[in-house]
Amino acid sequence: MSIFRSASFKLTVFYVLIVMIISVSFSVVVYQISSNEIGTCMNRPALYIKGLSNDNPIRSLANELERMRGEQIGQSRNHLLTNLINFNLLILVLSSVASYFFARRALRPIEEMMEAQSRFTADASHELKTPLTAMKSEIEVSLRDKKLGSAQAKKLLVSNLEEIGKLENLSSALLELARYENKSEKNLEALSLSEVLTSAFEKVEKFAKAKNIEFETDFSDLKVRADMQSLTELFVVLFDNSIKYSPVKSKITVSYKKEMRHVEIKIKDEGAGIKKEDLPHIFDRFYRADASRNKAQSGGYGLGLAIAKSIVELHGGTISVSSKAGKGSIFTVKLPLL
Ligand code: ADP
Repeated sequence: MSIFRSASFKLTVFYVLIVMIISVSFSVVVYQISSNEIGTCMNRPALYIKGLSNDNPIRSLANELERMRGEQIGQSRNHLLTNLINFNLLILVLSSVASYFFARRALRPIEEMMEAQSRFTADASHELKTPLTAMKSEIEVSLRDKKLGSAQAKKLLVSNLEEIGKLENLSSALLELARYENKSEKNLEALSLSEVLTSAFEKVEKFAKAKNIEFETDFSDLKVRADMQSLTELFVVLFDNSIKYSPVKSKITVSYKKEMRHVEIKIKDEGAGIKKEDLPHIFDRFYRADASRNKAQSGGYGLGLAIAKSIVELHGGTISVSSKAGKGSIFTVKLPLL
């Protein structure tokens, strides 16, 4: 982005300016001290010569030596000045290169954030536009039909209602994401992990039953510091995905293991799995692996795992996935223990 190029340039100039002010001030001080030192050396023999009488035989020789010495000192001062100028030029070149590097480095995270933000806006607009365009063209076609009957009109309304439902789902997912991304969780309380998992399971139970999917749990109770609503939402997302991407009559295993300071919760399914090339992006906003298959199959917008990640981070934890296409997936959530 050109705005970042000009910001990098301004920051580079600013850094170089600071370095050069320090370098030039340092050089001025060095020149003053060294020059004074040279002057003092010159003064000593001069005082001695002044003390000699005019008829002293070594007076003229001393005068000549003194003149030569004066020249030498002048040359030394010039030499010192040239060295200091060269030194400052070298500092100018080196600091310009280093400053540009550091300016780019300092601005890179902001640039990435802005890029992600504009990608997000573009994706969100695209997702919002799709159902609106579908509704608009359906209505336009129907209005052009002079013989539109009540049955067709009803069909149109049903289809429009479906699109409105999609818009509603998308806007609630966007609101939820914004809520978790901008929230700093302060009201964490001691919660029973099995209570949270049970409450999340109850919310997706009907979907599991519809696909004849068995939920196997293997854990004893543990306490975590969390927000009930957010943590339940996290497991609803993970359970819901496991159900969505699992075949009928398969099994989902939920287990947890206590570590030193945290608990590791694993959700393992026997579903479609995730391709290696999709794994690094799976938690990105609006990312759907194999988009065409998923949009039609799951109706998802690729926001669920981004929400899950924000919730986990809000609780000071981490979330990761290991998966192989066709071999199922394991989502691992690490949360700090109470
Ligand atoms: P979506 O609403 O599309 O499910 P998510 O953010 O929840 O969005 O998931 C992003 C993508 O990750 C999904 O489109 C899907 O391809 C993949 N995914 C998530 N969970 C699983 C899973 N348990 N098994 C296979 N693929 C999964």
